[in-house]
Amino acid sequence: MGSSFSVECKECGYQKDYYLGIGMLYGCLFSDRNDAAMMNFLSELVDSKEIMRKVEHILSMQNGCLDVRNGHMMYECTQCRTLDKRFHFLVKADSHEYEPEYLCSHCLAPLKILDVENAAVRSSFNSKGFSCPECLRCTLVEDQSKIICWD
Ligand SMILES: [Zn+2]
Ligand SMILES: [Zn+2]
Repeated sequence: MGSSFSVECKECGYQKDYYLGIGMLYGCLFSDRNDAAMMNFLSELVDSKEIMRKVEHILSMQNGCLDVRNGHMMYECTQCRTLDKRFHFLVKADSHEYEPEYLCSHCLAPLKILDVENAAVRSSFNSKGFSCPECLRCTLVEDQSKIICWD
C-alpha cells in the first residue's frame, strides 16, 4: 500500500513528490527473512553500514525477525529542518528490538519520523515550513493540490 506526499517551495517554486509506504515489490521481497537478496535490497534502502551491522546482529539472535510495517516514511531533522524520506522497519529478537536511527544528510543530527498520515502533524507542517534544497529558505510546505496513488 502506498501513498504520496508532495511539497513545494513558496519562494522558488521547487517541487518534489515523495512516494511512501510499501509497494507490492517490497511486500513480496520481504516475505522471507533469511533471503540474501532481501538483505542486499534492504542494505540499498538503508544505505548505512552501521545500521546494517545492527540489523544483522539482531537477526542472528534467537527468533530474530524483520518487520516492515511502514516502509518509506517522511523524516525531519529537528536541527536544520531538512525533510527526507527514509526506509522504516523494525528488527526484533527475543530480548531486543531495534529501529533504524537515521542521520540528517546535511548536519548529521538525528532524524525524527514525520508522520504525514497523521492529520495534526500534517496541519502543523505548513505553519512550520521546512528547508528548501534549492533556495535554502524555510519555505517548503505541503502541495495540497496533488494526490497521487501508486502501488
Ligand atoms: Zn539537519
Ligand atoms: Zn525554495
